[in-house]
Amino acid sequence: MNIKLFQELAHIIDKDIIVEYGKCFEAEIDFKTIRIPKHIENDFEDALHPYLLIDLGFNYHLYCNDYVFKFLHELGHIVNGFIDIDVYSLEVYALKDLWDKGKTSEYKCISIYMNTVEEMYANMWAYDFIKSNRSYIKRLTKEIRNV
Ligand SMILES: [Zn+2]
Repeated sequence: MNIKLFQELAHIIDKDIIVEYGKCFEAEIDFKTIRIPKHIENDFEDALHPYLLIDLGFNYHLYCNDYVFKFLHELGHIVNGFIDIDVYSLEVYALKDLWDKGKTSEYKCISIYMNTVEEMYANMWAYDFIKSNRSYIKRLTKEIRNV
């Protein structure tokens, strides 16, 4: 994975954003830092995949792969900032509780998580960015595949 391509993309949005390697995709909003994995975990990929194919009347899969989409999702978190962190914290706490008690499946867990306000808005930002930058995103996705 060529991290420079993602740094360039982040810097189009905000020159202060830092992109570094981490264990998984994550955004630290306070520090404007995005972490991306060097390798994609297949389990996670499989569980999340159906949610990346939700039809919103715009087939973004024609323009990017899951890896690029997940990066844009994290970028969306940074751009949006905290929307309602109190509600989000409660939702994540409740979800973790259900998970710990074995009361929810991985699929259901991801479904609920993806519908929290913060996650939904990060996805919406990613969809909009792809829509407005189709050829750039297509080129970037191709370049990543070739690295
Ligand atoms: Zn997220």
